[in-house]
Amino acid sequence: MIKPVVVANWKMFKTPSESVEFVDRLKNKILDWERVKIILCAPYTSLFEMGNSLMGDGRIDLGAQNIHWESEGAFTGEISAAMLQACGVEWVIVGHSERRVLFGESDEDVCRKVMTAIEEGLSVIFCVGETIQERKAGKTSLVLGEQLGTLLAKLTEDQLRKLLIAYEPIWAIGTGLNATSEQIAETHHILRRIIEKTFPSAASQVAIQYGGSVNQGNCKELSEVSEVNGFLIGGASLDVDQFGEIVKTITEVKNR
Ligand code: PEP
Repeated sequence: MIKPVVVANWKMFKTPSESVEFVDRLKNKILDWERVKIILCAPYTSLFEMGNSLMGDGRIDLGAQNIHWESEGAFTGEISAAMLQACGVEWVIVGHSERRVLFGESDEDVCRKVMTAIEEGLSVIFCVGETIQERKAGKTSLVLGEQLGTLLAKLTEDQLRKLLIAYEPIWAIGTGLNATSEQIAETHHILRRIIEKTFPSAASQVAIQYGGSVNQGNCKELSEVSEVNGFLIGGASLDVDQFGEIVKTITEVKNR
């Protein structure tokens, strides 16, 4: 069984003190820590203090929301793998639709970021997903095949182990309109087949998360979808009590 993974993507929310307060409150929650992986992806300015607060804890991993593909250089406003690692970061989100759509990141940019992150020792939460127009036009598999296939062609099987896939239909992110259990099951199945094409034996070990308006109210039903190995949560991850309840729910459902 793949251990369930729950990722918080705080986007451009929370100051360092608010972030550390969240960590302190989460640490005090009664969760089945051994049976779930929790990753908090915070703004850059919070990472150093969160890293200090998590040092030696071992139950919660720290993640960033972006990375540059070069190791260093004249790239104003960018951040490198080594800078993130110095704060205790082990994970980075790459390919989030907000970066693809709002900041113009292409499949090629995204692949370069993943390769650098992995080569420098980070693990990657790789986001893929279709627009509503693409879904309505029956192009979901094609779009996911391009987004994921382009990357898989560059990876070795060892590197694949550093990858977690997040299926995030763009129309479900921040809209309050989650994909249905049937849509998620079908799409995760498609993603698993895409991975199998390049990595027939390792594909079953790759965790595929769902992201898009997951909250306390719908997380039980979505956890029941056997193809779902975890969640990537935006809005609902900002509240530690709601986040804790979602973690508790998926842990219980997946370990039944
Ligand atoms: C996200 O930011 O990846 C996300 C899924 O956001 P939300 O949960 O708010 O839809």
